[in-house]
Amino acid sequence: MAYALAVHGGAGLIRADSLSPAREAACREALVRALAAGEAVLRRGGAALDAVTAAVVVLEDDPVFNAGRGAVLCADGSVELDAAVMDGRTRAAGAVAAAKTPRNPVMLARAVMERTPHVLVVGAGADVLAAELGLSLAARAWFVTPEREAQLAAATGVTLDHDAKADVYGTVGAVAADRDGHVAAATSTGGMTGQRPGRVGDTPVIGAGTWAWDRTCAVSGTGHGEPFVRLGVGQRISALCELAGLDLAAAAERVIREELPGLEGRGGVIAVDGQGNVAMPFNTAGMFRGSVREGEAPVVAIW
Ligand code: ASP
Repeated sequence: MAYALAVHGGAGLIRADSLSPAREAACREALVRALAAGEAVLRRGGAALDAVTAAVVVLEDDPVFNAGRGAVLCADGSVELDAAVMDGRTRAAGAVAAAKTPRNPVMLARAVMERTPHVLVVGAGADVLAAELGLSLAARAWFVTPEREAQLAAATGVTLDHDAKADVYGTVGAVAADRDGHVAAATSTGGMTGQRPGRVGDTPVIGAGTWAWDRTCAVSGTGHGEPFVRLGVGQRISALCELAGLDLAAAAERVIREELPGLEGRGGVIAVDGQGNVAMPFNTAGMFRGSVREGEAPVVAIW
């Protein structure tokens, strides 16, 4: 089976006239680097789970995206990190929410899945777990960038990252199908600018912002998290494939373009199935995204 991989760097009101060429190039380059990290795993016959983890670590470490380093700030100036992974082979899943110290939140989510009996660990408990398991930790100063401080100062209310008038980008995610036809998903975010401390969006909610099941598909979402949670976006796309017989593109398009707007939900998803089909619909002005399929050149797009 040919492998496939897709990544995203967030959806929102991304305007061509407010994105400087230098920043656009930096963003595209980071997406290409994330695809390369994930594809290196898949090319040597590695697992989809390892590929999505590798791709998301690259994007978390890049300060232009709203995940790990460069995460957006809560209303009180704090950083709260959410992340999730799901393995389509077994539907094993792990997630963390409102963590403050894991340098790579996606690695902590994976540790929750692989090294605890739990699915979701939040707040101070997540930070304690990261330390106990010997994961790499970082102080607030490592996560916070001057762009994020300025973004919070300028924000009025709770803002989707890409809707803010700042030269910074969004939530990140990856989905992959490996040569064995197994799928996996990973998503990581700092949430929404100016959110109440303790607010958690769709990213770490399994079945909403993150979902993977070999029988149907793997999904990673980005956008205004609350409607994603209320609709159960990832699970719903999966159920439309499983129970209504829709193909991946039709299922993903229906949920993002028809159903999500009914809840005033804005955003998009990247999705892949075990045959290597990729869908990346969004209902916002843009979504930073990229994909690669075995034997083909990687493609990156914004609008
Ligand atoms: N979905 C994320 C959240 O609501 C935000 C985003 O995708 O930019 O926390």
